[in-house]
Amino acid sequence: MKLNIIKRVAVLLLSNIFLNQPAQGQTGNLYKNASKPIEQRIADLLSKMTLEEKTGQMNQLNFSPNNADLKQKIKQGQAGSILNVVGANDVNTLQRIALEESRLGIPLIIGRDVIHGFKTIFPIPLGQAASFEPEIAESGARIAATEARESGVNWTFAPMLDISRDARWGRIAESLGEDPYLAASLGAAMVKGFQGDALSGSYSIAACLKHFFGYGAAEGGRDYNSTNIPEHLLRNVYLVPFQKSVEAGAATVMTSFNDNDGIPASANDFMLKQVLRKEWGFKGFVVSDWASVEEMVVHGFAADKKDAARLSANAGLDMEMATGLYLQYLPELVKEGKVPVSVIDDAVKNILRIKFSMGLFEHPYAVSAVPSTIYSKEHLQAARHAAVRSAVLLKNEKQVLPLNNKTKIAVIGPMANAQRDQLGTWVFDGEKEHTVTPLKALQTEYNYIQYVYEPGLRYSRDKDTSAFGSAVNAVKQADAAVVFLGEEAILSGEAHSLSDLNLIGRQSQLLAALKRAGKPVVLVIMAGRPLTILRDLPYADAVLYSFHPGTMGGSAIMDLLFGKASPSGKLPVTFVKEVGQIPMYYNHNNTGRPAPAEVTTIDQLPLEAKQSSLGYTSFYLDSGKDPLFPFGYGLSYTSFQYSDLKLSAPAIKKGEKLTIQVTLKNTGRYDGAEVVQLYIQDKVGSIVRPVKELKRFQKVELKTGESRVLKFELTCNDLAFYGKELKKKCEEGYFNIWVGGSSVTGLQASFTLE
Ligand code: BGC
Repeated sequence: MKLNIIKRVAVLLLSNIFLNQPAQGQTGNLYKNASKPIEQRIADLLSKMTLEEKTGQMNQLNFSPNNADLKQKIKQGQAGSILNVVGANDVNTLQRIALEESRLGIPLIIGRDVIHGFKTIFPIPLGQAASFEPEIAESGARIAATEARESGVNWTFAPMLDISRDARWGRIAESLGEDPYLAASLGAAMVKGFQGDALSGSYSIAACLKHFFGYGAAEGGRDYNSTNIPEHLLRNVYLVPFQKSVEAGAATVMTSFNDNDGIPASANDFMLKQVLRKEWGFKGFVVSDWASVEEMVVHGFAADKKDAARLSANAGLDMEMATGLYLQYLPELVKEGKVPVSVIDDAVKNILRIKFSMGLFEHPYAVSAVPSTIYSKEHLQAARHAAVRSAVLLKNEKQVLPLNNKTKIAVIGPMANAQRDQLGTWVFDGEKEHTVTPLKALQTEYNYIQYVYEPGLRYSRDKDTSAFGSAVNAVKQADAAVVFLGEEAILSGEAHSLSDLNLIGRQSQLLAALKRAGKPVVLVIMAGRPLTILRDLPYADAVLYSFHPGTMGGSAIMDLLFGKASPSGKLPVTFVKEVGQIPMYYNHNNTGRPAPAEVTTIDQLPLEAKQSSLGYTSFYLDSGKDPLFPFGYGLSYTSFQYSDLKLSAPAIKKGEKLTIQVTLKNTGRYDGAEVVQLYIQDKVGSIVRPVKELKRFQKVELKTGESRVLKFELTCNDLAFYGKELKKKCEEGYFNIWVGGSSVTGLQASFTLE
């Protein structure tokens, strides 16, 4: 008896010590031999699997604690992946069942939405995009991977690469903005961050590109809605970030909820087989979005659940998320000859390929890091840096910012101390207790600043104005008001679309009341999307837009307000004046009748003006032709001057490079960073080309007075697009080129492609 206990303790200790050691190879089990090539291991394992074990691998189930059925399924080899199980203990319990109690011992892949941080929360992806720094996106993803891996998660459902031109859509918060080149650069950087140098790295987690495809173009900005993206637009815009991230080695892809032109993405065989696999050479596996296969019945595309399973499997969707539909119906569909067994085999191969590449057979268990890296000093510092670099200064009249350390400030507004809300959407694991709000930053690190705190409103939707008086009095006692407005986290994200994008609740009224106190007003907005702040601008002398800045947002904002850093973010998405201008985006096609520089607006219209008196051009009578703030816009405390734009040649041939040179000078009083942006316009194409397209960007740090010569190169590949024949190529002709600090400014030149 005693001996038995000693034996068990010894086994436990040893199994802990050897938790991460290779599983013992069994005779005849080539697939367990890590020295064999992956494709051989896949073939060996596949040859040993029953049909039910194969469809089991294609099944992803949601975790719930004490779920005996889930454990039973794992034991029977009926689950290839579990999502939403977090923590080394729970993960290892399930993994041990998969490895030791299932017939073939195939490890589980453990999925979770780790979107902009695991515990240490970075700015929302839209905020990170405003940094225009792939390094920020990569480091955020690396840190998220490190923290998540400690907790047993080895697969994240990120990055989200949906191009979004519609701020009504709540998931714009999760996106990398409206531009395909920017989203592609940042998305690929995130893949690199999540997956590290090798998928098998101890702190790597598999990335998942989502939502494939077109989901961001939901009609009317209403989530899950149909999209109608024609193939040229799809290939020239919406697919660009996906292709680049597949090239960056992303392990998995997730299909989206929407139908495009009548075909739900989870059954679109053309996109999954032809585009993703044949054209792009994707070798990983494709997972559905949550229940998106089953929902094709509601969509009216599949007759019933079984039909839905048939359609998706035959289309090339490898793993089904959450409903168990594949498990339930695929074996009988195969027996009935409605799904070829080769389809099942291909899907299982794709899934196993990733499991082998991740080294899951050799290192299946979560190992808690000692000491833990979660909320480490380095992680918090990186999150703070990301928040500093992501904030966009939209207005700074009379250089009211940066504030002087001696300025006594009145801290007002519902977002000044909103621990949970400043983290933003899609935060499953981050804890609000760790959030540094602006108020907390003033109470701790910035405790030498004099301030009074009167929120005025308790939360963004609050309609109770009874505390306005105290807030106004607070401003009267101070030298300046710093007003924190915006959106609660719950107002953006999945299924949280809005049709009105004005500041919600009574926030605009609060701002206007504060302005009447006669002191300078600095408005800081934390939100999940671009809001329509046209009406609020007159009441703020300075506006800093920090989206939802994450765990360290408060410290980052204080760093910016008090001039420890100069704002350097630029808008990754167009800010419209009125919701009715949507969709408005910088890289649109020209009409045959573009509006002139100055347009007559509704108030200037004479009575009974003639039908033709305005001319016939493309703009809104009430809100004009321009947005409130264009893509790429953002101010700094310092100023930058662009000069000496030079091209290496007035014309290039298809095999040649064009070198573009420009001089950038910091002409202001502060050190600062500028996002230098290079745009082109292909003047004439076999299909109409956008008025401008971002082709290069670079964030450049310059000390006051310093100048630097910057060089960019473009080749035919950068000018190529899918033209009339739907083939990607560059077309000869005349190109405009601009280099500047936003999509509407810059030095201009031109060249010809011969
Ligand atoms: C979302 C995905 C997410 C999945 C798993 C779905 O509702 O659309 O983005 O990854 O749930 O949580």
